[in-house]
Amino acid sequence: MYQRRTRGLIDPTFIVGVNSFVEFAKAHPNCLDGHLMRCPCNHKKCQNRNFLDEDTIKAHIAKYGFVENYETWIHHGESDDGDIFREHVVGEVFEQYVGDENISAFETMIHDAAGPSFQPHDIQDNPTPAVQHIYDMLRAEQQELWPNNPNRISKLSVVARLMNLKAEHHFSERLYDDFCELMKECLPSNNVIVDGFYETKQLVRGLGLPVEQIDCCKRSCMLYWGEDSELISCKLCGHDRYKRGRTDSGSRKTMVPHKKMFYFPLTPRLQRLYGSNATAKHMRWHFEHEMEKDGVMRHCSDSPAWKHFNNMYPSFASECRNARLGLCTDGFQPFGQSGQQYSSWPVIVTPYNLPPWMCMKDEYMFLSIIVPGPSNPKDRLDVFLQPLIAELKDLWEIGVETYDVTSKQNFRMRAALMWIISDFPAYSMLSGWSIAGKLACPYCMDDSDG
Ligand SMILES: [Zn+2]
Ligand SMILES: [Zn+2]
Ligand SMILES: [Zn+2]
Repeated sequence: MYQRRTRGLIDPTFIVGVNSFVEFAKAHPNCLDGHLMRCPCNHKKCQNRNFLDEDTIKAHIAKYGFVENYETWIHHGESDDGDIFREHVVGEVFEQYVGDENISAFETMIHDAAGPSFQPHDIQDNPTPAVQHIYDMLRAEQQELWPNNPNRISKLSVVARLMNLKAEHHFSERLYDDFCELMKECLPSNNVIVDGFYETKQLVRGLGLPVEQIDCCKRSCMLYWGEDSELISCKLCGHDRYKRGRTDSGSRKTMVPHKKMFYFPLTPRLQRLYGSNATAKHMRWHFEHEMEKDGVMRHCSDSPAWKHFNNMYPSFASECRNARLGLCTDGFQPFGQSGQQYSSWPVIVTPYNLPPWMCMKDEYMFLSIIVPGPSNPKDRLDVFLQPLIAELKDLWEIGVETYDVTSKQNFRMRAALMWIISDFPAYSMLSGWSIAGKLACPYCMDDSDG
């Protein structure tokens, strides 16, 4: 029906087409079931049989395309001899689109990642590494996969699709490397496709978000972080920070810590939600949606607790773009039940500003900390939470200048941790109140029924 991909990407006109299709279908209530409509995607389960909601349908069509030969939308209210409304809607939206044709989606992606202060046209003489990565990507976007290839496929577009395939189908790195090698052989000899996964990572590293590695005491007493970052032994138990260094090749000593944790700073992740058109407007959903009249809660923002919080902190609540976070943690065994016992504790933070169909998706659950094993951190979990707590305090008290792509302006984003989600044993670790034995409730404390 519409052309779905150009240069390996979903064509923007296709998205416009899909939107106009959905508008068309919504205008024909006799073909709807409540607010559900038949999904015209080409998945073998759908094909105009299944009734689904608007967003799922858009996602399906983007992924599978329209069912073949669905030229007249008979299942969505179009009569066989065409429909004036369709002409009208489709024509209008297509007109809005004309003009943006020359900006590729990959360029948009790079600009989203680089942020508003990045000016691609005034090339700096000595760019910082971060800026240099952006330039490298822009160059790869300009570079054709091989000179004068018929579809003007760029190097970056191929790399981005390869990464996408890797993520979606769980390619191993070896498969990825071999696949690149195969493509290299099949394409004209003057092609510039990447050699493998390493080169791919080098190319797209400008899109990545920061991660910190922090050394910690082997017995989990403390982190070598902040004021203590220079210490070489634990100030509580005295254990050495580094393994006995073996001197390799003469003078250079390798300093290998006994244990380290990973910390994924939250602020740049939240800022990126406002930096992309795909997510920025959804961050206001909690404020803009109206609770359904049946009184059923569909999102935490419908709850009395949320409204109570708004009343307690009116200045925080008055900026609806401030982030409201939930935190959850639980132990898991990365090596399975068999073999060596190893328990690792990921800590995950989720922004609840997003609508229910987004805030429960894994792409919006930000891994914040990985507490290393091999044993359960027990009452030492708070040691590992320190960097996150410090960052959350900053975000609550001061906030951070953030660029909002929808208003094209900066605002001061603050964040509040609204609640934690965990099972009861993890609750005791997070609250620091032992739940074993008497006085088990961390909320009632001494008044618990023992
Ligand atoms: Zn479908
Ligand atoms: Zn120690
Ligand atoms: Zn209680």
